[in-house]
Order: sequence, then structure tokens, then C-alpha cells
Amino acid sequence: MLAGYAVQVERSRGRRFPEPLHPYRNDYQRDRDRVIHARAFRRLEDKTQVFTRRYSDHFRNRLTHTIEVAQITRTVAGALDLNVDLAEALALVHDLGHPPFGHAGEKALDAAMREHGLFFDHNLHALRIVEDFEQRYAAFRGLNLTFEVREGIIKHSRDYDAEQHPELAEYLLNQRPPLEAQLVDLTDEIGYNTADLDDGYEARLLTLEQIRAGVPVFERFFRHVEPIYPDAPEKLQFNEALKRVFNRLVGDLITNTQARVMQAGIETLADVRLHPKRLAAFSGEVEDERKQIKDFLYYNLYYSPSLAGEKDDAECVVTELFAFWMKNPSALPHYYHEKAERESLPRVVCDYIAGMTDHFIIGQYEKYCLGK
Ligand code: MG
Repeated sequence: MLAGYAVQVERSRGRRFPEPLHPYRNDYQRDRDRVIHARAFRRLEDKTQVFTRRYSDHFRNRLTHTIEVAQITRTVAGALDLNVDLAEALALVHDLGHPPFGHAGEKALDAAMREHGLFFDHNLHALRIVEDFEQRYAAFRGLNLTFEVREGIIKHSRDYDAEQHPELAEYLLNQRPPLEAQLVDLTDEIGYNTADLDDGYEARLLTLEQIRAGVPVFERFFRHVEPIYPDAPEKLQFNEALKRVFNRLVGDLITNTQARVMQAGIETLADVRLHPKRLAAFSGEVEDERKQIKDFLYYNLYYSPSLAGEKDDAECVVTELFAFWMKNPSALPHYYHEKAERESLPRVVCDYIAGMTDHFIIGQYEKYCLGK
């Protein structure tokens, strides 16, 4: 039973190219499956989340992060009686537009584009992937996803200005996205905030003492679990505390979103869309805790000197390859070379680089920039 304000698949605005209904999967289940079967989805396996493979094979990459976010999103959407199929599809697609090398790669690609008066944005890139670059079907380009999935790709994590982005007008930029899409931005945060504490600790870039001192919510739970498992190995005590942090974030997102929906008198999907603010949110207290975790990770992990060398290398690879193909477009693969005759060269080079895995771009760098 779905809530009155959930998205109902029967009332979808549909696909760009109408298709007959499937006998045993609804349209959002089909969209979820189309995302899973996309080449861009498989490439997430070799895209950095925070740590490159140099550290360990145990750490998250962008694919395992995505699967974790999908798991959290299904739980939260289910507890709120939202459309779980749509929420899951949105979670699985949410990082599809990320370039190689995590945020360092994204930053370098955006900087290279800005030199040509353009920019790189991973949500807009994800939309281009599903609308254009994925070619699986003879009847149309792209994955022909439903409106609600494409809308969620654009609107889940930020608001685009309607005047600056006339090309996105069909996505109702003056309205809030459905709750299924609003959730994904927060489940994404729950996913990476807890996972990055875990991987950072396993990588020995963060110590237990440091986390206990810097993350009050973790410290509270650690004090609680230590006397319950006094003889357990430190890592398992750590896990028990982190599990409780995780549950607190997820539980609060559910109960607080539910309360906000009630307080605002929301009954229909139109109410969600026309409400002046997003309704999916943590409570004030947990929002503060979320910020503390995030700030701690920025300061102690993402910008730690231990990761600085890798990030500099990543930026250098992206920047130099971009410059190389701008000077030597004939060295692009045939398909992109042809595309450059119709579209601006920086955009074509950017699209090519953004699609690459970490492994592939390193190979290209060695070939074209190091002459190996
Ligand atoms: Mg993500």
C-alpha cells in the first residue's frame, strides 16, 4: 500500500518513445533493470569513490557505494510507504555520471571545461548517458527511461535555475521533486558518511581515538557498546558503534520525514511538488550530527596529506589528457572524432573522459602523455 503522496507508476508521465507495458514488470522496475544492464553502470566498478585500488580491494568503489545507497533507499522508501521501485531506480542511477578518480577527477574536468567557457556537472552528464550515450535498443537512442527517473537524476541533489537551464524546462524546475528523489540525496550521505569512516579506519588513515574525539555521535555509541563487548577485537567494537550511528541516521530520516509530511498536511504527490521546501530531512539534532561526521571526514580524510598525492596525480592525468585531445582531436576514437564535427570539441573530449574508468584513463595517459 503506497501513501497518497507516493509516486504511482500507473500515473507516470511516461517515456519519450511510448512502449507497450511489460507483462510482469512495471515501468519503474524496468527502468531499474535498464540501469543495471547499462554499460555505464558496469563501469562504476572501476571508478574511485574515495580510495583507489592502490589501498585495498576491500574498500568501496562507486559501484559498491551505489549498491549500498540502493539498499538504504529501499529501506527508507518502504518504511515511508513510498514507491520503492522508483526510489531504487533513482539510487542505482544517482552516480552514473561521475568521471574517473572521484571528486579530484570531477574537479579537474570541470576546470578544463571552464577554460572554454563551459562546465562539467555529473547530474547533467548522467542524463546525457541515459538519454543519448547508452545504445542498446534498435528503436531509440538511450535507455528511454520514464519521466520520473530522468527528473530524479536532475533534481535529487540540487536545484537548477530555470533561467540558466532552459534545456531542462520539461523537468518542472520550479517544483520540488517527489519524495522518492528527495530521499536519495540523504541516503547517499548516510551511505558515504558511514562507509568512509569504516574505510578510513581500515586504511589506518583514521584512528579509533581520532574518530571518538571528532565524531560525538560515534563516541556516544562507542561508550555504550564497549562495556557490552569488552573482549571483542577493536574493529568489531568499532563496527558495533558504527552500526548504531547508521541506524540512528536511517531511523531519524524515516521518522522526521514522516513528521514533516504530517505537519505540512501533505496528502498528494502534487502537495509534495508544490511545497515550498523539500520534505525529506533529518531532525535538527541529527542534522548537526551528520554535519559533524561530514566535517570530520573532510578535514581528516578527504583532505588528508595521505590522499593528497593521489589526488594531484588524478588531476594531472585528467588535465593533461584533456589538453592532449584538444590539440590532437584526430587521436580520438573514430566515433568521438566524428562527433566533434557536429558538437564542440571540448564537450566531446569531456564526454569521452567522463565515461572512462580509472584503469582505462591511466592507460590512455601512459600512451599519449608518457609515450609508453
Ligand atoms: Mg553517491
